[in-house]
Amino acid sequence: MNKRDYYEVLGVSQSASQDEIKKAYRSLARKLHPDVNKDDATAAEQFKEVTEAYEVLSDADKRAQYDRFGHQDPSQGAGFGGAGGFQGDFGGFGDIFDMFFGGGGRPRGPQRGSDLEYTLAIDFKDAAFGLTKEIEIPRTETCSVCSGSGAKPGTKVETCSTCQGSGMQEFVTNTPLGRMVNRRACPTCHGTGKRIATVCVECRGAGTVRRRRKIEVKIPPGVDTGTRMRINGAGEAGEQGASSGDLYIVIRINKHDFFQREGNDVYCEVPITFVQAALGDEITVPTLYGREIIRIPEGTQSGTMFQLRGKGMPRLGNGVARGDQRVRVVLQTPSRLTERQKELFRELSREFGEDAHEQSRSFFDRVKSALRGE
Ligand SMILES: [Zn+2]
Ligand SMILES: [Zn+2]
Repeated sequence: MNKRDYYEVLGVSQSASQDEIKKAYRSLARKLHPDVNKDDATAAEQFKEVTEAYEVLSDADKRAQYDRFGHQDPSQGAGFGGAGGFQGDFGGFGDIFDMFFGGGGRPRGPQRGSDLEYTLAIDFKDAAFGLTKEIEIPRTETCSVCSGSGAKPGTKVETCSTCQGSGMQEFVTNTPLGRMVNRRACPTCHGTGKRIATVCVECRGAGTVRRRRKIEVKIPPGVDTGTRMRINGAGEAGEQGASSGDLYIVIRINKHDFFQREGNDVYCEVPITFVQAALGDEITVPTLYGREIIRIPEGTQSGTMFQLRGKGMPRLGNGVARGDQRVRVVLQTPSRLTERQKELFRELSREFGEDAHEQSRSFFDRVKSALRGE
């Protein structure tokens, strides 16, 4: 098997710090995560590759071994990432977040709850003014009957006799690199350090239950597609009273028929007639904050951009400062003319006469000299 170098996979140097490695993995994982790329087999493969690289390089022992032996690790007999490696089965973003926030990889008693991510689509105008919205998320919550202990209320919870309450078992192995101590969750109590005599009937001893929970989310003005908001402690409940994960709300703005967004500026196109462009006029333009009047000067060309200061999106977290609205006028060529209108245009054309010819001749002269490179 021809494997790529783990440092190359993550795009970091051999001397990269743990922080750099974590950062590189986080950005790649977000991009390649199967939840984001549902039908992309290449992305799934790449995701496996970067996760495998991260699992090795983020662990000081494994990294040292990899630095020394490359993909052939003598103490394991096979290369990294074989048996017991990454299985390619993901439960959602919680898995990734777990690696970064509190998970840590080593079992040590009840685990903190997973973080959850929820994508919330909102309308263009709601992004400008903010809104409060109720969302419903399925999540794991602390069992209310046993308060998370897993034991039937009124019954005793004893200390696990296998691990004496530590929740861990230690294994010592001799490797070519010396003695290694491995810790793993106690198989009797699964890391809790407790022994439950009579389990809670509501949660069957787990201490947690699945619920669909309604949560009110306050969206501030100025959010954009991709804005992430964290609601502390609103993720999944931790095991047996451990702290809850967080809930991340990721914003997506629905397309608007008329407005487009460019940073904090709002962009729109407004049609004007041939006559308005030639003679000038005042046009009414809708903005997020009501109608505004723009004066079109005489002889305006199609595509001219006008600016309405302070009529764009509010700056996130500022509340006062806003972007601008940019209005592009687009000339509508008249079509389906009546005979009388056509006659008037012909008359107008005769009136332009030499003038119009003069204009197009100077244009073609300029094209010719441009082609000659003058
Ligand atoms: Zn319970
Ligand atoms: Zn135990």
